[in-house]
Amino acid sequence: MVSYKELGLVNTREMFAKAIKGGYAIPAFNFNNMEQLQAIIKAAAETKSPVILQVSKGARNYANQTLLRYMAQGAVEYAKELGWENPQICLHLDHGDSFELCKSCVDFGFSSVMIDASSLPYEENIALTKKVVDYAHQFDVTVEAELGVLAGVEDEVSSAVSHYTKPEEVVDFATRTGCDSLAISIGTSHGAYKFTPEQCTRDPKTGRLVPPPLAFDVLDAVMEQLPGFPIVLHGSSSVPQEYVDMINQYGGKLPDAVGIPEEQLRKAAKSAVCKINIDSDSRLAFTAAVRKVFAEKPAEFDPRKYCGPARDLMTELYKHKIINVLGSDGKA
Ligand SMILES: [Zn+2]
Repeated sequence: MVSYKELGLVNTREMFAKAIKGGYAIPAFNFNNMEQLQAIIKAAAETKSPVILQVSKGARNYANQTLLRYMAQGAVEYAKELGWENPQICLHLDHGDSFELCKSCVDFGFSSVMIDASSLPYEENIALTKKVVDYAHQFDVTVEAELGVLAGVEDEVSSAVSHYTKPEEVVDFATRTGCDSLAISIGTSHGAYKFTPEQCTRDPKTGRLVPPPLAFDVLDAVMEQLPGFPIVLHGSSSVPQEYVDMINQYGGKLPDAVGIPEEQLRKAAKSAVCKINIDSDSRLAFTAAVRKVFAEKPAEFDPRKYCGPARDLMTELYKHKIINVLGSDGKA
């Protein structure tokens, strides 16, 4: 058993309380490899933004849980080396799907876990979430739960259709589970294809897809039921068209990829939404940069020569999100 406190990590409690008061949101960025982690920490350190490092079940399988944990520990030290005296870094399990997985992460030094039992019937969601909360809270580890179902694909999490969160359930759910934050479904979606072309309209000038707006009425109703309670948005990549264009220009094939417009996320960040999950955007940045090097310098075979530019582009992306979308810069 390792406590996250020994690793220099923090849980989400104080982060979220400050974010709700201050009208901004904490970035939750997924990572699977060194370059991604370096980019996240560099961006957070340079902007002095609290940050949540997210590890999905798929990432644990890909990178190895022991290695990931030491990487997170290393990230704290790296942040200090970059001049961030008091790094506010949380290590969070994204989409935990069983008590055993959540327990294993708590025991392994995570400071926060998500139990996603949103696909189960309501009472089963409550029972499983409460079991995780009861375990995690013994070690001051915070727990995110989910009500409602997001569409899209993220690692092993997938659903064809979304079901908005029912505002009339949230008080009962939060009270009975004791969860620290709640992921809700208001129209965000996992992956780089958040909407089908049929769900969108097309901008007549650019020919680009324009997605339907988020259901802010559902968010408002949830906030009315649970004033001041931390709300989380998953699937909140904006799928920047510049990266999609770069990928397509250099031999990729991502037709009609579409995300959540940043102005909608900006609006959400000012509310009780205090954690916004962004994963696909960094995958797109990484891929765009690598494809560009491969296309322009076909003789290059040193991974540092294409992973380096990928890291730079991700750093730029993360800083942009922190400063221009979430407003969390200068808050840590
Ligand atoms: Zn998610």
